[in-house]
Amino acid sequence: MFRFKCASCGDFHSGIPDIGWSYPVFYLDVPEAEREERCQLTSDSCVIDDKWFFIRGCLEIPVIGTEEVFAWGAWVSLGEADFDRFVELYDIDSRAEEGSFLGWFSSNIELYPKTTELKARAHLRDGGLRPFIELEPTDHPLALEQREGITIDRLREIYRFFKISVLPEDGTQELLQSLSA
Ligand SMILES: [Zn+2]
Repeated sequence: MFRFKCASCGDFHSGIPDIGWSYPVFYLDVPEAEREERCQLTSDSCVIDDKWFFIRGCLEIPVIGTEEVFAWGAWVSLGEADFDRFVELYDIDSRAEEGSFLGWFSSNIELYPKTTELKARAHLRDGGLRPFIELEPTDHPLALEQREGITIDRLREIYRFFKISVLPEDGTQELLQSLSA
């Protein structure tokens, strides 16, 4: 679909880059000097003050007219028992049948009206994939986009908002121009 410079390895890949956060937004509420003491943050989970529990998942959005999805790498809060269960199942390859956990969306995507109060369900997936986040079917624009999908133009708009540059997949010319710019 697009060519883009990968934020993790620096190479160019083709596809649809996702946009994500390596912590739930509430992590930022903890003063930096206290984070080590109060937060346990991994690539997939976060506990704040032994009291607030979060996991990372993928809020996937179909891209209309394609077979592909765009994903927000976002966080969901869970109750302690569900979080413990998530941790127990973390290394188990086949866990989708264990079901899903209800929580609150815990990333604030500034492109939308407040997203941190959305009810969300995190569905476990097999094969080490991060949970699939399903938003409660409200009329919040993010929930609508998840249900109805987004156009490629809307996707470009999202990338522009986050200053992520994407090039047409077959756009060698544009690629060369952007590299020399
Ligand atoms: Zn890469």
